[in-house]
Amino acid sequence: YPFAPQLLLLGTISGGGVVAYAESQSDVGSPPIDSNQNEVKKKKVVVLGTGWAGTSFLKHVDASHYDVQVVSPRNYFAFTPLLPSVTCGTVEARSIVEPVRKIIKKRSGEIKYYEAECIKIDAANKNVHLRANTDNPLIGTPEFSLEYDYLIVAIGAQVNTFNTPGVKENCHFLKEVEDAQKIRTSVIDCFETAVLPGLSEEERRRNLHFVIVGGGPTGVEFAAELHDYFQEDLVKLYPMVKDLVKITLIQSGDHILNMFDERISNFAETKFQRDGIDVQTGCRVVSVSDKEIKVKVKSKGEVYSVPHGLVVWSTGVGTRPVVRDFMEQIGQANRRVLVTDEWLRVKGCDDVYAIGDCATIDQRKIMEDIVAIFAAADTDNSGTLTVTEFRDVVDDIIIRYPQVEQYLKSKHLQDVTDLLKDSEGNDRKEVNIEEFKLALSLVDSQRKSLPATAQVAAQQGTYLSNCFNRREQCEAIPEGPRRFRGSGQHHFLPFRYKHFGQFAPLGGEEAAAELPGDWVSTGHSTQWLWYSVYASKQVSWRTRVLVVSDWTRRFIFGRDSSRI
Ligand code: FAD
Repeated sequence: YPFAPQLLLLGTISGGGVVAYAESQSDVGSPPIDSNQNEVKKKKVVVLGTGWAGTSFLKHVDASHYDVQVVSPRNYFAFTPLLPSVTCGTVEARSIVEPVRKIIKKRSGEIKYYEAECIKIDAANKNVHLRANTDNPLIGTPEFSLEYDYLIVAIGAQVNTFNTPGVKENCHFLKEVEDAQKIRTSVIDCFETAVLPGLSEEERRRNLHFVIVGGGPTGVEFAAELHDYFQEDLVKLYPMVKDLVKITLIQSGDHILNMFDERISNFAETKFQRDGIDVQTGCRVVSVSDKEIKVKVKSKGEVYSVPHGLVVWSTGVGTRPVVRDFMEQIGQANRRVLVTDEWLRVKGCDDVYAIGDCATIDQRKIMEDIVAIFAAADTDNSGTLTVTEFRDVVDDIIIRYPQVEQYLKSKHLQDVTDLLKDSEGNDRKEVNIEEFKLALSLVDSQRKSLPATAQVAAQQGTYLSNCFNRREQCEAIPEGPRRFRGSGQHHFLPFRYKHFGQFAPLGGEEAAAELPGDWVSTGHSTQWLWYSVYASKQVSWRTRVLVVSDWTRRFIFGRDSSRI
């Protein structure tokens, strides 16, 4: 089961040879005293990352039961959905970050934080090698390691350039707070350069051509923010070049926002067309230089060049090198992302959990398990189950694998529900297991893995902390249907994602939203819904007040275009 008891390990920080860290060894992992006055060492839980997944774990875990240590190169949590607003000064960078130490101080037990980056996960020896995030020469070689009983990998993902030549050198990314700050100064640089004397009109146009690569939510939101920034603020400050500004959005798919409902894609495309944002779909960027970007039209194969002043690359995420190295160690080299089971345990590696953007739940294995469960239910090897047996097994499977509910019960699984009827539409008495397998494989091909979003990451962090908090209780009284308890795996119900909808702000105080129950909402009222949801989701009252006051300041005074 996911939280198997482990032998206790001694020592927390080892190696490093650094005085500053050696001193801290003495106080790390000091054992608590249990009610019998026997010394009991708490299990060591090491958390890598303080993003959505890591922070949500830390906020909910009962730190009085574990020796929790958290490692991240950034000593803050960043509210990433507002990063596009930081690029244009709608919201200040400091308004969307919260220091990790403030977050962990509020917890019941002590949580230790190290500002360091994980450079290697050594699963065989159950430790992680870290490099401190410092260039202080007095520290020497700032490397050290931590031992763990349980490791939680929540280090997110990195930008994916698809090895496109020139992207790393010539494009901006929009992943971290620093990226957003750099974009903010670069946009103003483009305007200040464009108004310098002695430039030809062609050079001014080039400087004021802003290209966004990637028509997903981040690219679209940035394009909308930039358009608003120009229309509402910059046009008054740089009237001499207002007719030369152009925003282009390049998307390889046929539509922007293609992960949203079709109505939202259409709404966004129409709105951008009205706003004069040039959306080029079905195009792939083949290279980027400091002055131009080469684009290939996928249908015709022809390549054309676009001069640019600034390019923002936002085409999705890839695996971080430390995770890739770990995947090679544990036999997952052929996978795209770190694969976990439904309890978020890394496959092939006991006591390591992976949550958030760095991981994905193995959907294929779930389908194989389900088929095996049906086969096991066929105790007389007749190849069939009675309809009552079939329904019982389906009900139990839904409790054990809640994520397949919609496929086993809803209209998506017409093929499976059809198994309960004969060709004339009458109820069958028996269900053929081979027919069921075939129907399930069709459904499997329609299923998608969970999206890499803050919503998924935060829910996984909360789920995992609840499992950690209730470990002893659930060992005594396992959760889930009796049918599965014999396998000794199911003390906890597996992770279940609840989708609360998603937003796409489109500028001009308009937004689109996909809400639960296939509801779609667009327009000004949706933008107000966006304001209230994002204000309520802030990690602390401090950031909530800062963000709301930034929005108010922007309404009254406009955005600040100083280049500082
Ligand atoms: P992250 O939040 O990226 O956190 C990773 C953490 O790991 C960071 O603290 C990092 O410093 C740390 N780390 C990195 N490397 C190491 C290392 N080697 N060792 C230790 N620690 C390390 N999602 C939504 O649901 N809604 C939105 O509106 C939305 N908007 C977005 C807008 C932008 C501009 C971006 C970039 C993303 C947006 N997302 C949104 C996606 C969302 O931010 C991610 O899905 C989410 O951040 C994933 O959380 P995570 O904890 O897995 O990773």
